[in-house]
Amino acid sequence: MDLTIIGHWGGFPKAGEASSGYLLAHNGFYLLMDCGSAVLSKLQTIISAEKLDGIILSHYHADHTADIGVVQHALYVGKFTGQYDKTLPIYGHGLDSEGFKQLTYKDVTAGIAYKPDEILHIGPLSISFLQTHHSAPCFAMRIEADGKAIVYTGDTSYFKELADFSKGADVLLCESNFYKGMDGSAAGHMTSEQAGKTARQAGVDKLILTHLPHFGDLSRLKDEAAEQFAGEIIIAQEGLKMEI
Ligand SMILES: [Zn+2]
Ligand SMILES: [Zn+2]
Repeated sequence: MDLTIIGHWGGFPKAGEASSGYLLAHNGFYLLMDCGSAVLSKLQTIISAEKLDGIILSHYHADHTADIGVVQHALYVGKFTGQYDKTLPIYGHGLDSEGFKQLTYKDVTAGIAYKPDEILHIGPLSISFLQTHHSAPCFAMRIEADGKAIVYTGDTSYFKELADFSKGADVLLCESNFYKGMDGSAAGHMTSEQAGKTARQAGVDKLILTHLPHFGDLSRLKDEAAEQFAGEIIIAQEGLKMEI
């Protein structure tokens, strides 16, 4: 699998950048995980929206879904010009009917509710889910293909089961919206220290810190996570591409 970071800011995008969006590619299959603000603009520097085979959403907060509407418009225009003749599946949980119903638009996109207790097979990918601790229903995802695994936490405060869910993954793409010593739990977010702790408990190979804060010195996040986790730690960056 190839992972490309499209956007990594928590809450809203920094000027000229994007909030949550991650592109997974495997054997010519393209899955976009979350579709936050400015993700479509940044995605198009890599592939056009017509090339996507699916979108999957962790939850319905705007920093993860803001660009769903414009992806739908892009594909609608694609139908009009004859560039696009498919219906794009958008996978989301069914615990928020208002959020879920936005996923279906004409014959352009079709909302599909994933069942958190079942493995979802999309193209060559197998995806399992774990509900996180957040201010809105949100699901972490473990995506596996050809014996490799990546876990994307979505938004969450620290909880022990997340490490069990992430056990032995090659990459943990973990939110780190706060610095060590801060209390992110009320907002439903983790600190750098908790991200490092989760990576250590799970025994993952690599930790990518994402859903980054708009304050402080981001390099501190890495140092603080490294006090907990001895493996490789990367701070998410737009355009960062990694083979898993
Ligand atoms: Zn968020
Ligand atoms: Zn959220």
